Amino acid sequence: MGIAGLAKFSTVDFPGRLAAVVFTAGCNYDCFYCHNRQLIPFSGQEELPLAEVWAFLQKRKGLLDGVVVSGGEATFWQGLSEFLARCKANGFATKLDTNGSRPEVVRRLLAEGLLDYVAVDYKAPFDRYPAVCGLGVDPEKVKETFALLLAQDKVSFEARTTVFPTLSEQELVRMAQEAPVFPRYVLNGYRKPELFCEKDREQIEQKPYSRQELERFVRLLLPYQPNCALGTV
Ligand code: SF4
Repeated sequence: MGIAGLAKFSTVDFPGRLAAVVFTAGCNYDCFYCHNRQLIPFSGQEELPLAEVWAFLQKRKGLLDGVVVSGGEATFWQGLSEFLARCKANGFATKLDTNGSRPEVVRRLLAEGLLDYVAVDYKAPFDRYPAVCGLGVDPEKVKETFALLLAQDKVSFEARTTVFPTLSEQELVRMAQEAPVFPRYVLNGYRKPELFCEKDREQIEQKPYSRQELERFVRLLLPYQPNCALGTV
């Protein structure tokens, strides 16, 4: 498995930076609302040759200042350390997007000094993780990832939640209460994915919360998560 996609320019994926985003193949979760459903299988995907990605990044040196590694779940990619090290050697700041299920990998990457920013998904109330992200998902791993990122201060860290339509106001409040206080906590709006499983059609097709509702949720969560903000809507 390796890189399955590349977004050549983003102003929104890496706070304060102009970044390219690489998408790795394979994910151990199966979130019903996943926007990268085609990236979930660990094998059989068309991959982008690494040489092509590097040829692009070399050309963008000085124009882009960051690289985001997203997925799928990038912590499964065997070449991740090497790729991040090469990004840093070429002057790019690095950001990892992760579902938080592999704290041991995040711990190693932090120890190796290969990350400048980590964004961890906080998908749902911990007791709803299997229903939202797939049976067998262990939310204790996510808690462990939060804890190890909070125990250090060298690498920027945010948690983020996609506020899908069946995530209720009460559940959002509970999530804000059950988590440690994050240095940044972003609520993102829900968009209906193009690809989804037929069994999930009913919840996929529910009306997304409006910007006004999301802004109200942010205000509601501030007493528990004072660094809560609205992200993409
Ligand atoms: S963790 Fe991300 S990539 Fe994996 S299934 Fe969930 S939304 Fe999709």
